[in-house]
Amino acid sequence: MDNCIFCKIIKGEIPSFKVYEDELVYAFEDINPITEGHTLIIPKKHSQDLWEIEAESLTAVHLASKKIMDAIKKVLKPTGVVAMQLNGKSVGQAVFHYHLHLMPRYEDTPPLPVARWELTPGNMDKIRETTEKIKAALR
Ligand SMILES: [Zn+2]
Repeated sequence: MDNCIFCKIIKGEIPSFKVYEDELVYAFEDINPITEGHTLIIPKKHSQDLWEIEAESLTAVHLASKKIMDAIKKVLKPTGVVAMQLNGKSVGQAVFHYHLHLMPRYEDTPPLPVARWELTPGNMDKIRETTEKIKAALR
């Protein structure tokens, strides 16, 4: 896409700190990192989100994330890594080209708000009803 910042990064029209590239995937360091090693993994073929991405690109992105996770673990020694992906403006997706974040966490970094919430038991009837709705839509 012509006006997509990530497509421009893939084409080299915008510089990036590339850590990995293969036929289907491009991965680079986030220039506004939440922690050291914050990496973005994107498909080379433009698609907006999880609704739109094709299986081949989705698989490639997630297989690449494992390779990069292994490298991050080896050199940065995080205590854990968040793998996060947002779909839609209302959940904070800022660039509308599918991207998976790898966000390492270290002893001294604050927990990510999205990765920590209070556990409150839900309404079991409502959960059962929602389960049935989603299952019916999958058929
Ligand atoms: Zn794009």
